[in-house]
Amino acid sequence: MLLGCVHGDEPEGVWLLEAALKDWKARFPLQMVGLVVVPVANPDGRRARTRWNARGIDLNRNLPTRDWKASFQHRGNNPGPRSASEPETQGLLGLLERFQPEAILSIHSMRRFQININGPALEWGQALARICGYPVTDDIGYPCPGSLGTYAGAERQIPAITLEVQRGLRRPEVLRIHLPVVQGAVRFWDRL
Ligand SMILES: [Zn+2]
Repeated sequence: MLLGCVHGDEPEGVWLLEAALKDWKARFPLQMVGLVVVPVANPDGRRARTRWNARGIDLNRNLPTRDWKASFQHRGNNPGPRSASEPETQGLLGLLERFQPEAILSIHSMRRFQININGPALEWGQALARICGYPVTDDIGYPCPGSLGTYAGAERQIPAITLEVQRGLRRPEVLRIHLPVVQGAVRFWDRL
């Protein structure tokens, strides 16, 4: 499963997944491709260019993890009134339930670029590091209750990578560096 734009102000995943989809559609009959691709997981945030959704909730803090809590420190990390309160979260949970992905790549961006792994994703992460040179980390530096990495990777042992693309790159540069990463991520699981 490939996700982009969980945070609406991080367009890098949209650019990458739309470009990858275009390539895959041109090369393969779609029913032969074992992928679930969601280029824009936070459509309202994407439109408004906000990290959060239209209700001001950080979707990557809203998943029903064991450590979910309603308190938060920064406005941008509002986890919602309860876990899975948001329609986007419910939609994502529905996709996870229906397709039972064997691995998940979610594309974000931040200044401290990295390949953040959760669950049994070390080899997968190292394979991607060989393509883009980013460091592989298993701790992003602060707790992320309600995040996809915690929900799928840590709690369900689904290999999960949060690819943090370097913030501030222009689209052509993002595609040049990271389209091979997305292709390599899929190739690792023999899905193309
Ligand atoms: Zn993000």
